[in-house]
Amino acid sequence: MAIVNAKSILQKATREGYAVGAFNITNLVQMEAVVEAAVGQESPLIIQTSVTPSRFLGREVIVAVYRTLADRAPIPICLHLDHCTDVQYCRQCVDAGYTNIMIDASKQEFEENIRQTREVCEYAHKGGDITVEGELGTVSGVEDQIKVVEDVAQLCNPDAAAEFVMRTGVDLFAPAIGTAHGVYKTANPKVDFARLEKIRKTLTAKGLAVPLVIHGGTGLPEGTVKRLIELGGAKFNVSTELKHTLIDTTFTYIEAHRHEYNPGRIDKAVKEAIKETIHIWIERLGCSGKAE
Ligand SMILES: [Zn+2]
Repeated sequence: MAIVNAKSILQKATREGYAVGAFNITNLVQMEAVVEAAVGQESPLIIQTSVTPSRFLGREVIVAVYRTLADRAPIPICLHLDHCTDVQYCRQCVDAGYTNIMIDASKQEFEENIRQTREVCEYAHKGGDITVEGELGTVSGVEDQIKVVEDVAQLCNPDAAAEFVMRTGVDLFAPAIGTAHGVYKTANPKVDFARLEKIRKTLTAKGLAVPLVIHGGTGLPEGTVKRLIELGGAKFNVSTELKHTLIDTTFTYIEAHRHEYNPGRIDKAVKEAIKETIHIWIERLGCSGKAE
């Protein structure tokens, strides 16, 4: 009952003016932690895996655990494949039971990006109630964030965005507006708010309104997140922060209990720390209490 795609969750968020966290997990303890946190706050949830953990854990294993957790959870939960550059692997994850797929062909030329994104959309839509996210422009690593945000050519062009959404049939759209992956080098990274606003207006004017995705959530200041939600950001991707929480908590625990050999206690410490991080994000995004 709680197994849903991302589009259904995000259309409601866009309508009602809040956003939903899309949390990258790399192991099953993290997956349980994000689900428990979201259930505790009655929030809709998007669980994400990048391609590497998806291949390492196995897509069937991830889907089986997702379905087990989501089936009994009283909130809508989506399982999303993040930044997949391989059309074939996108298809395999559709077949395995992921409910939302990101085909990231943003490094390709415009026409090739459209071709690959459309191919995944057609496959996913035929395969069932599965939705697709596409990206246009450069969402860089933080090393290049300042360069990218000041280089219009690397950011998402609003008219190209409309053509992209129309010709691909994507359900969610990730425009490059200057946010980046990793830990920002500055406390207040420059983000092109006006561009996001223009993109939303252009899409809406052409009858192509789709939920908008903000990549690089880790480290964005509170005010930036709020502004991005006001301008239509509906899905916020949070990855780096969860990796840091996992590794720092593990390290701190082991350092304090060097001669204890009880892995369950490390898992428990990690789970509590991840839940606390998710709790803060859910409050920040305004999605607490928004599960149907
Ligand atoms: Zn991303």
